[in-house]
Amino acid sequence: MTNDDWTARDAAVVWHGFTQMSCYADNAPVIVERGEGRELIDTAGRRYLDAISSLWVTTLGHRVPELDQALREQIDRVAHSTLLGNGNRIVIEFAEALARAVPVDEPHIAFASDGASAVEQALKIAFQYWTNRGIAGRTAYLAFGDAYHGDTIGSLSLGAGGFGTQIFDPLRFPVLRAPSFSEPGALDTAAQMVRAHRDILAAVVVEPLVQGAAGMLSAPAESFRLLAAACEETGVLLVCDEVATGFGRTGTLFASEQCALRPDLLCLGKGITGGYLPMSATVANRKVFDTFLGPDLSANTFYHGHSYGGNALAAAVALRHLQLLQSGAILANVRERSAQLHEALAPLARRASVRDIRLIGLMGAVELDTSQEPRLARRVCAAMVRRGVLSRSMGPVITLVPPLTITAAEIERIVATLIAALDEVGA
Ligand SMILES: *Cc1c(COP(=O)(O)O)cnc(C)c1O
Repeated sequence: MTNDDWTARDAAVVWHGFTQMSCYADNAPVIVERGEGRELIDTAGRRYLDAISSLWVTTLGHRVPELDQALREQIDRVAHSTLLGNGNRIVIEFAEALARAVPVDEPHIAFASDGASAVEQALKIAFQYWTNRGIAGRTAYLAFGDAYHGDTIGSLSLGAGGFGTQIFDPLRFPVLRAPSFSEPGALDTAAQMVRAHRDILAAVVVEPLVQGAAGMLSAPAESFRLLAAACEETGVLLVCDEVATGFGRTGTLFASEQCALRPDLLCLGKGITGGYLPMSATVANRKVFDTFLGPDLSANTFYHGHSYGGNALAAAVALRHLQLLQSGAILANVRERSAQLHEALAPLARRASVRDIRLIGLMGAVELDTSQEPRLARRVCAAMVRRGVLSRSMGPVITLVPPLTITAAEIERIVATLIAALDEVGA
């Protein structure tokens, strides 16, 4: 079996997300067979440095001995049991550890499997919070321009659109839209909107510090306090979507810490299991949780749940992963490698083809001028992949999102490969 054979078998049966399948096979997809550290190895034995952390989920690398061990130990106990009405020992142990780590007051954690589902849960909890309190009319949400919260209908409605998703506009429910983080004063404007619409708003949903899928757009950390103050004053719930920024990506365990935010609801996903297994979580503070308490089978109950929510294998890996992150060395590495990457990318700003360079922690974006050639970023990323560095473009942006354990030498390799790819494509 050659790599091309695997590609043909793949294209014959697998429908890949965000991918035009008519040319999938022509775009030289990498068919992964195994991983080792921060590298993925394809079916022909070629190695690729995973500079996108398998779409931002991989934190410590692939086949991390401690995580592998945690998974093996849990397999010998049980793989999964439902959390609807019953509990599971390893899930309790993980929830306790997570509860101590999150910037949320007296938290309770509702588990799901994908980031979009965590956001969806937050939307429904925020809605029912007002119903449970007997307050009518607070059914609207405030979200930001350029926001991305996932691909289910609720999270898509919160999102600003783009990536071809405008097709679904007729299905999206309307939300109040604050400016994108690319606009100066975005958080100030959002805070004013919260006050102006206090009687209809259930919640405001924000990606703290950085809008990831928008191409790593950041707003000043201090400015988020304006939003928190408006929420406190009006009672509008503050929902932080840390699906992308959580678990060390920005140099602290959670980006909310840098923004001095203590959200009512916190959405987690992506890095929660270090990239091993699908798990997400919606964390609610005591104020929100308590409104759902009442007699058995009463209307206050949160009638929502997913089959695989709180999967035991995922919880075992997530617990060990959280312990490793809390040792501190990994977060220090994120900050050091971020500073190194910042310096290494700076000379690229002189290129006519480079519009902007943005970096927060290990969430990096090199935005190209695609006015002459819309596929420019895509072609640069393809050239990087041919040179053994896995990268992916989002529109005009080349994303650089390496694992949190990336080394200084690997950062040099990523930047050298990016420069060689820009030269090859004539950018
Ligand atoms: C990726 C992402 C999501 C969606 O997570 P999925 O696991 O892909 O459903 C939601 N919010 C943010 C900020 C994200 O980056």
